[in-house]
Amino acid sequence: MDLIVQKFGGTSLSDESSRRHVLRHITREHEAGSRLVVVVSAMGRSGEPYATDSLLELVRANGDMLPPREKDLLLSCGELISATVLCSLLCSEGIPAVALTGGQAGIVTDGRFGSARISEIRTDRMQKHLADKQVVIVAGFQGATEGGETTTLGRGGSDTSATALGAALNADIVDIYTDVDGILTADPRWVSDARPLSAVSYEEICNMAQNGAKVIHPRAVEIAMKAGIPVRVRSTFSDGVGTLVTNAKSLRSQGIWYDKTVTGLAHVRGVTQLAVVNGNGPSDLQLRIFRAMATHGISVDFINVMPTGVHYTVSEADTDTAVDLLGQLDFEPVVRRGCAKVSVIGGGMNGEPGVMAVIVEALTNAGIPIFQSADSNATIWVLIAERNLAEALQALHSAFGLHLSPAQGT
Ligand code: ADP
Ligand code: ASP
Ligand code: MG
Repeated sequence: MDLIVQKFGGTSLSDESSRRHVLRHITREHEAGSRLVVVVSAMGRSGEPYATDSLLELVRANGDMLPPREKDLLLSCGELISATVLCSLLCSEGIPAVALTGGQAGIVTDGRFGSARISEIRTDRMQKHLADKQVVIVAGFQGATEGGETTTLGRGGSDTSATALGAALNADIVDIYTDVDGILTADPRWVSDARPLSAVSYEEICNMAQNGAKVIHPRAVEIAMKAGIPVRVRSTFSDGVGTLVTNAKSLRSQGIWYDKTVTGLAHVRGVTQLAVVNGNGPSDLQLRIFRAMATHGISVDFINVMPTGVHYTVSEADTDTAVDLLGQLDFEPVVRRGCAKVSVIGGGMNGEPGVMAVIVEALTNAGIPIFQSADSNATIWVLIAERNLAEALQALHSAFGLHLSPAQGT
């Protein structure tokens, strides 16, 4: 008998009509005889009553003085509401179901409130409910420490709950249901003719997710990849099969995947570029800068170290602190706020000549300056002004024929 983990995101649960679609997917698999573990996110998006951001808003008026432990207790409520409301819907349809908190489902984490890591999943309780033919609904994004304290896994963490449960239960597949048709060649909110991909490798979606494609959390992909559990990203609101994510070898052997030079685009907004010129300054300039950033927990990216100085980027939120720290070191950085990082990703670009030339040509023709660039074997990054982002994504999407070419495997 198959064991399927289904995960439903916030927009899939936000109202009665979307929950009817959720019910349809659960009923279909339940009636086919599969054992089901259903992971849910908090309902809706920012501004809607039980969304995670709306819960945070409740305490913002108090200067955000809530201690991390209590903040996690608050944040965990959104997923609990979803789990219990969905349980009532299933029970009303005669489908036996049980709702569990992350801790009750056996998800044990360390004690880092707000960004806890899963250390172990004890599956006994879930196995018992599954053996009793119940649909097991688990509140996503949360776990509990050995001492029983509720923790959350970091924003977007319900995807991580789903693949971690899939790995622990050795599921046949983890289905991530969301509000788009699968993994697309770019974020459809930014590129109107983005196309769904029928299949991608773990590595490719990991690159896309790490570079800002929030359709699935990168940690969730890493867990699935390590356990070798296939994942499908698909729409709650249709019956399409979505995008299959598994290892490249298995996709190749099924004849449904090939190494496309460029598979898709991803982007991150709200980036600041900092440039420090060395002049006749200290020879240990790089060391002093990066040590200061690390000591203050500032994450740096796009690092370019040259004999003449360094360029790197930080998030908009960290910019003021980073500039202060550089000031304390007697450096006067050139600060370029309002940037965006665009990533061009493809498992087959390694060793392919001309990819950078296409990027430069597309952006130059659109009159978009490139402030910095970098590359790895499967990704090329460019830093541009955020005001040019929509145009840049569209230009690159067209230049690589992503709007025309058949999606992977089709
Ligand atoms: P959920 O609440 O279901 O977890 P998210 O908002 O976290 O949904 O993720 C789905 C969103 O991810 C989509 O609405 C889409 O705008 C965005 N997204 C970004 N990049 C991509 C991509 N390459 N393919 C599909 N969706 C993407
Ligand atoms: N509700 C949580 C968040 O908004 C977790 C999730 O949606 O995956 O970050
Ligand atoms: Mg999400």
